[in-house]
Amino acid sequence: MNLILMGLPGAGKGTQAEKIVEKYGIPHISTGDMFRSAIKNGTELGLKAKAFMDEGNLVPDEVTVGIVRERLSKDDCKNGFLLDGFPRTVAQADALEEMLQGLGRKIDHVLYIEVPKEDLFKRLTGRWICPTCGATYHEIYNPPKVSGKCDKDGSDLIQREDDKPETVGKRLEVNLEQTQPLVDFYTDKGYLRKLDGNKEINEVFEDIDGIIKGSNQ
Ligand SMILES: [Zn+2]
Repeated sequence: MNLILMGLPGAGKGTQAEKIVEKYGIPHISTGDMFRSAIKNGTELGLKAKAFMDEGNLVPDEVTVGIVRERLSKDDCKNGFLLDGFPRTVAQADALEEMLQGLGRKIDHVLYIEVPKEDLFKRLTGRWICPTCGATYHEIYNPPKVSGKCDKDGSDLIQREDDKPETVGKRLEVNLEQTQPLVDFYTDKGYLRKLDGNKEINEVFEDIDGIIKGSNQ
């Protein structure tokens, strides 16, 4: 089962990835992990990637694609894989198609967990922390008893830079711009499976499970 997992920040990708990996026993391949391990193992491509990153530059596609190829050729990917965070561009998606063809394989499904931008905004900007004791709250999921105050010590709650509306808004915008061309690409290929990410975590997984099981028959 060769899968790609897609979704904007806050859509619940990480949680679903864990569940898929647990049930189907395929490796979860995230770009971050892949880079870290290539660099740690000092592979030629790992060192190349590191050189770009050390200078604060983006790693070029050919290096990223090479690292993905190395990873997908490993034994634990024989029965499938769950790619997460790759491809990020249509050029990378094209390269992946070509690479898989060379390996005599193909993508089975691109699982796209869809949540409207306004809902993601609410999820991502709702987090507040207590500067005194470090307790965390969420306006929707875990609100403090008194708005803006810590339950334990009454301190005024603060927001991390990453959780502030301006930062979140920009991050979602950038991600959406990046994601749309890929969604179009995989729709054209017939691989895209949209999932309603506003459902409960277990319901989303049941939907994913249904898609994977359906294609096993
Ligand atoms: Zn506190």
